[in-house]
Amino acid sequence: MRKPIIAGNWKMHKGIEETRQLLRELKDMEMSPEIEVVVCPPFTSLSEAAELLVGTAIGLGAQNMHWERSGAYTGEVSPCMLKEIGCKYVIIGHSERRQYFGETDEMVNFKVKSAFNHDLIPIVCVGENLEQRKNGETKSLVTNQVKKALEGLTEKQVERIVIAYEPIWAIGTGVSAKGEDANEVIKLIRDIIAGDFGKDISQKVRIQYGGSVKPGNIKEFMEQPEIDGALVGGASLKAVDFGAIVNYKK
Ligand code: 13P
Repeated sequence: MRKPIIAGNWKMHKGIEETRQLLRELKDMEMSPEIEVVVCPPFTSLSEAAELLVGTAIGLGAQNMHWERSGAYTGEVSPCMLKEIGCKYVIIGHSERRQYFGETDEMVNFKVKSAFNHDLIPIVCVGENLEQRKNGETKSLVTNQVKKALEGLTEKQVERIVIAYEPIWAIGTGVSAKGEDANEVIKLIRDIIAGDFGKDISQKVRIQYGGSVKPGNIKEFMEQPEIDGALVGGASLKAVDFGAIVNYKK
């Protein structure tokens, strides 16, 4: 059985003071033990978050990293630094990184391998934009992104990876995918992994849906057989909303 994982991607929101506030509120909430809960604050809030989350069941993730352990890479943050702070997860290849910061499938693959080499679990994002969707390219694009991201990984690594299917047209737009449509693409992702690494491995991989997830629609996604959680942007910035998403069964 795959344990569902719901992660909040705070993006470029929440300085240290706001991080304290939000995490205090989240810590006061009862969170469903059936769900693995993760928050991914910006780099500058990670240390503070790590301290505040000690002794809680909420895991910590970063939103990006460089693949090298150190070096002359001005403005970058290394996997060792994330590990030292106490991160367990790191989001890799979010569409905003691909779109605005030129991240390629090759860079995503470097980062995924590096994350595993430093004992971090990558949450790898894939998904098509509106034009690609209209052109019927969703399956070929997602297939390509998944295959490239996982290239050269061992079976032991693949079974620990988290993949987030985030259709770009659904991110921050208020227009989410339909549960069944997201399930279909996520099933495709699982089939690709089964083809490359075997069915047993593919059955262990957790694959999330992301894109305008809210308290009002989370159930629709969680009820799908292939969907193992969500990557939540905007609705993870308020404790009441994120709490309601995690506790969607109540
Ligand atoms: P929204 O939930 O704000 O649409 O963002 C989704 C996302 O990009 C999470 O990584």
